[in-house]
Amino acid sequence: MSRESQKTDWALATRAVHAGQSPDPSTGALMTPVYMNSTYGQKAPTELIDGYEYSRTKNPTRLALERNLASLEGSEYGLAFSSGMAATNTVMNLLQSGDHVVAGDDLYGGTFRLFEKLYKNYGLTFTYVNLSNLDEVQQALRPETKLLFVESPTNPLLKICDLSALAEMARSRNILSVCDNTFATPCLQRPLEFGFDLVIHSTTKYLGGHSDVVGGAIIARNQELHEKLAFFQNTVGAVPGPMDCFLVLRGTKTLPLRMQRHGETAMALAQMLEAHPRVKNVIYPGLSSHPGHEIATKQMSGFGGIVSFIIDGSVEQGMAVAGKTQLFACAESLGGVESLIEHPPSMTHASIPVEIRRARGMDDGLIRISVGVEDKDDLEADLRQALEP
Ligand SMILES: *Cc1c(COP(=O)(O)O)cnc(C)c1O
Repeated sequence: MSRESQKTDWALATRAVHAGQSPDPSTGALMTPVYMNSTYGQKAPTELIDGYEYSRTKNPTRLALERNLASLEGSEYGLAFSSGMAATNTVMNLLQSGDHVVAGDDLYGGTFRLFEKLYKNYGLTFTYVNLSNLDEVQQALRPETKLLFVESPTNPLLKICDLSALAEMARSRNILSVCDNTFATPCLQRPLEFGFDLVIHSTTKYLGGHSDVVGGAIIARNQELHEKLAFFQNTVGAVPGPMDCFLVLRGTKTLPLRMQRHGETAMALAQMLEAHPRVKNVIYPGLSSHPGHEIATKQMSGFGGIVSFIIDGSVEQGMAVAGKTQLFACAESLGGVESLIEHPPSMTHASIPVEIRRARGMDDGLIRISVGVEDKDDLEADLRQALEP
């Protein structure tokens, strides 16, 4: 039996290493080679070798990655893109002018910008709701609603929504349900299992895991959706290069190991912060004080590596803490092996007007950390010294 055909029997950690990959047929190379080629020789006109014609349409390194990612999300249908935004944009290609979209009000900033600055001009309309409140979601649905766009946990407030309930609500009204699973990763949460139609990833974050590549992916529930999206992937052409695919494929091999470590250290740091006199509030789905803790426990097998916390103080004081760490690098992005710290009010979320930002619960003293895989005690000591007044 080939490794690929076994992929559904294997546990996630085994699939992470092997799914989609088998020794290269020409040399036996165990790691999928980086196929740096745009075109392929054909046996004769229209007689392709193994279906390969042109690399925008199909490339062996990309195909290995697409199969690997699909397997991790519990599907057979994966597509890789040049960025997370290219993946999200491709999902939007399924819609037509006049369609209505319901999305979370704590959406990734780039996704919000895509909807508001681009797709509004193409006759699409959008309603943003608190996805943790099912009544609010229900009330936002209209006859012309065609897509429900969900994130859980969200950024930077780590809000949790009930994935089964939302998928069911969408399915009962024939609305396409999409979950951006970048924060949780398939190690902790697999939205297709809860009834979602599509999963989006920014592979730039945990899947790549080493802050050395930008990429995205879509995993579909069924072949029909996959084929429509594959048509857009080839037609629009926002595909990743083979080297980028290789890097993400290398990253996913250690994803289960990394997620376990990220989660353990994040929990320890969240508990340390909760007891710290300068910290007003710690936001981490693994803490019983988190309002979504119960649902998170039901639908996630771990709580991830992102912790947000609020210090009692001004924007300047928040900036000072984020600027004072030595091990945590002050930077945007997340999900790499190295720990990062950022101050959303002055960095990633600075473009949101002050009143709206505060009304959404993003206090001036809000700080977000992406916990890496370094030693827990070193990370804790670094945060403690940065929090000294
Ligand atoms: C980073 C991110 C994206 C966008 O991905 P890029 O690879 O930067 O294009 C989308 N969604 C979430 C949740 C993200 O964190």
